[in-house]
Amino acid sequence: MNLQTSKIKKCPKCKKRVKGEGNKWRPFCSERCKMLDLGAWASEDYKIPDESDEYGDEVENNGDAQGGLS
Ligand SMILES: [Zn+2]
Repeated sequence: MNLQTSKIKKCPKCKKRVKGEGNKWRPFCSERCKMLDLGAWASEDYKIPDESDEYGDEVENNGDAQGGLS
């Protein structure tokens, strides 16, 4: 009884060998590969929010540094 190899599947996305048994993402190796295959990775739902411009309104006002008008 050597059925172990028959349970090894190849991920259709990254070709990584993955056990089919107990794998909730089969035939993919992971959620990521499944999402990639479904195209959801590129959709808005799966996009990682870009918060890099949240500091735009925190501009320090250093007007006091220009004290040459008095
Ligand atoms: Zn994969």
